[in-house]
Amino acid sequence: MKRVLYSLLLILMFSFLGGPYCFNSNASNKPVVVVIDPGHGGIGDKNQGAQYNGFSEKEITLQVANAMKAELEKYDDVVVYLTRSTDTNMTLEERAAFAKSVNADFVYSIHFNASANHEFYGSEVWTSAYGQFYKKGQEFGKIESDELGSLGLYQKGVKTRLGSKGDYYGIIRQSTVRNIPCVIIEHAYLDHMYDVQYLRTENVMQKFGVADATAVAKYFKLKSSSTGADYSTYNYSSVKAPSNAVPQDQSGPDYCNIQVVTFDAASRNALVSMSTKDSQSDVIYFAYSYDGGNTFSLLQMWDRTKETQSFNVFIPKGITDPQIVCRAYNCYERFTQSEAANVPNYSYQN
Ligand SMILES: [Zn+2]
Repeated sequence: MKRVLYSLLLILMFSFLGGPYCFNSNASNKPVVVVIDPGHGGIGDKNQGAQYNGFSEKEITLQVANAMKAELEKYDDVVVYLTRSTDTNMTLEERAAFAKSVNADFVYSIHFNASANHEFYGSEVWTSAYGQFYKKGQEFGKIESDELGSLGLYQKGVKTRLGSKGDYYGIIRQSTVRNIPCVIIEHAYLDHMYDVQYLRTENVMQKFGVADATAVAKYFKLKSSSTGADYSTYNYSSVKAPSNAVPQDQSGPDYCNIQVVTFDAASRNALVSMSTKDSQSDVIYFAYSYDGGNTFSLLQMWDRTKETQSFNVFIPKGITDPQIVCRAYNCYERFTQSEAANVPNYSYQN
């Protein structure tokens, strides 16, 4: 009789959990706790974040965070918090302490980017340089990067940055010191036209929020009874936890060699073949100059799966002695510059 009662009890328990044949991947059945941190916030210049082309970083981070929360809450077994839901000023320490107070499994800090010379574009994810935090940040970051890439944004990669106190970025440092993995998602640059064009498309903050939530759902293998989305068997490549901190790449690509193959007088294009490689990090951009390196083109997208690529450099009429110089940039924005090369069979007329 006791055994029968015990079996009945087990059956009841399994029914309550959803039945023995539909275990969810979250084996303990403890909900995943996600903290979304909309970057910046509050009054005063230093709380605004980047401000370009009519976009205010502190406002759009909140829009993306709200959309991300709403999307993520469609999944089962997940609890979602925002560090701020209004235009308020919070220190990075307060944000991380809040995440700790709700027992967060992960902190996602939502940001938009800008660069001093307005030259970079694309998305990037920053992660801790240390151990399990690095592993988790890299694994999530790759999924996130794929989601943002599928929206059409150029992907710079998943990166680390060390400073004098360990991880350079405060929200990452403050979270990991509390034993919570954290990434910063820099969705796009507010000061580069390539990204701004995309930022001006309809419902774009909503799309970012959905992309971010989908990446989280894939990472935690969530499923949704309401939408039918099911990532319980989603696989992503495992990253090894490093035993030492993984620092940023502080040097440019190993080499950047060019050859000017031909000059087409009709189109005024010089065909340039460029070879580059960086043994530490991906080469992601290149730029070219026809005036010996005085002025350069906008940064072009480099196909990081190749070490040699060809492209045309347009040389305007009247340039008497063009000298081609190219630069290869890695994902840490360090560049290596080629030697100058003459243009064969060049004619400055026509
Ligand atoms: Zn920011």
